Amino acid sequence: MTEKTYAMLKPDAVAAGHIGEIISRFENVGLVIERMELATLTPQQAAANYAEHEGKPFYEGLVQYVTSGPVVKLVLAGEGAVAITRKLMGATNPVDALPGTIRGDFGLVMDANVIHGSDSPESAEREIAIFFD
Ligand code: UDP
Ligand code: MG
Repeated sequence: MTEKTYAMLKPDAVAAGHIGEIISRFENVGLVIERMELATLTPQQAAANYAEHEGKPFYEGLVQYVTSGPVVKLVLAGEGAVAITRKLMGATNPVDALPGTIRGDFGLVMDANVIHGSDSPESAEREIAIFFD
């Protein structure tokens, strides 16, 4: 079966009007957009997505941030979809993300780092189930 990943354009990317530019990068490499939806996350969805980070100092702020406005939820499919998406995203902190990556080109600070992407095929399966039927 083709590998799938869950990606999400965070509220700062949507508010800045960068949906088209970012999504085109996934299309450019040949990933297939299987699902795409604009929505505001519920606190429950945000908590479920970031369960691994519960209790960390940045957790409360992270949940607040990702529920602060509309996001674009995506299921991307293709060979190596998880790793390819992570590569296109760049490092977690935009300070470290190289130019040419999504976080390197559209982000400034870790608190608003433009995009989420699953970190493994197992995480992808779990996250897709949180956000899509
Ligand atoms: N985050 C943060 N401060 C930190 C670490 C993480 O605000 O010190 C946020 C950031 O938005 C990041 C998310 O928490 O994207 C999840 O962190 P993770 O380490 O899983 O990074 P990612 O998988 O998003 O690259
Ligand atoms: Mg992560």
